[in-house]
Amino acid sequence: MYPLLTVNLQHLRENVRVLRALCAEHAIEITGVTKVFRGDPVIAKILVEEGITRLGDSRVDNLKRLQGLSAEKWLIRPPMLSEVPELVEFGDASLNSELSVIEAIDEEAGRQGREHKIILMADLGDIREGYVDPDELVDAAKKVAAMSHAKLYGLGVNLTCFSFVQYDTEKLTQLRDLAKRVEEETGVKLSVVSGGNSATIDLMLRGGIPSGVNNLRLGESVLFGKERAKYQYLPGTHPDVFTLHAEIVELKEKPSLPWGDIGVDSYGKKPAFTDRGDRRLKAICALGKQDFDAETTTACDEGIILLGASSDHLMLDITDAQKTYRVGDTVDLQLGYFSTMRAFTSEYVRKEYSGNHHP
Ligand SMILES: *Cc1c(COP(=O)(O)O)cnc(C)c1O
Repeated sequence: MYPLLTVNLQHLRENVRVLRALCAEHAIEITGVTKVFRGDPVIAKILVEEGITRLGDSRVDNLKRLQGLSAEKWLIRPPMLSEVPELVEFGDASLNSELSVIEAIDEEAGRQGREHKIILMADLGDIREGYVDPDELVDAAKKVAAMSHAKLYGLGVNLTCFSFVQYDTEKLTQLRDLAKRVEEETGVKLSVVSGGNSATIDLMLRGGIPSGVNNLRLGESVLFGKERAKYQYLPGTHPDVFTLHAEIVELKEKPSLPWGDIGVDSYGKKPAFTDRGDRRLKAICALGKQDFDAETTTACDEGIILLGASSDHLMLDITDAQKTYRVGDTVDLQLGYFSTMRAFTSEYVRKEYSGNHHP
């Protein structure tokens, strides 16, 4: 049954090894981010087998799926007040920026006889989560340090996700200095100073992470072998951990330009079409926006052009395809970040693993 998503666990394992080695050279520990694959425990287990001791996800539901793995589990989105009981039960740590939530965590952890580690986020310019005002962050840290079940664990920053502000030595030095100030003013030694995501890798490789920053939360680089500042593949990694196989349901000769009076698309925009001349062979696959994201997908057959997708149809130009396709054949698609995320979320996509040889 298609669509089918295959996960190459051996290639993933090798990616983890490369990233672990690169980070180790710069004294950086990895929190493996599992949200792209919806906290699938079979996949997360590869990370743990390869020595990753911390896993992070933005959803408590996904942390629940990771329950059987022995790793420290972080919620990497500011927790909802309404999910604090599940967070405390299934998570060991979380990234936080609201004292009222941390107070609720402290209380709930007391109720459950648990501890919960708090990483306070600093917003250094991206206008996403975190304290902009350093004094406010230090005040919050002092209050957390005085709590009994919520434990002050570290500081973190996240950039390049909303405003695409880049990581640089100056920003990470600010974070490191803020961590020092928090340590001085609270008397608590911080275990974690988390300097970002896969977009920090490029800075790290250039030797630009100041000492004192000791952690990165990595999803894309580990899973796709891609750093996210210059979008380059890292040497020795595999980009093809996730491949989606979609079945051809129609194959016909059609012109490259539509005919008739063209209206606006579902986003209210006038669509544009490229006249590709005499390229006539078109295929439709049974796959749509519910299951993948066309913008972050490429065909493995380099002769195929992805023309676009609607909710349930993927349109391809296969005029120059390397293979000859027939109705009922499948087309292999290499998935990027958002496409993978959507494939894992779609119930219509069947999942299969390959290459799970033991280390
Ligand atoms: C998603 C996310 C990450 C991982 O980002 P990648 O670019 O995939 O490495 C790290 N930190 C936070 C807070 C996130 O939301």
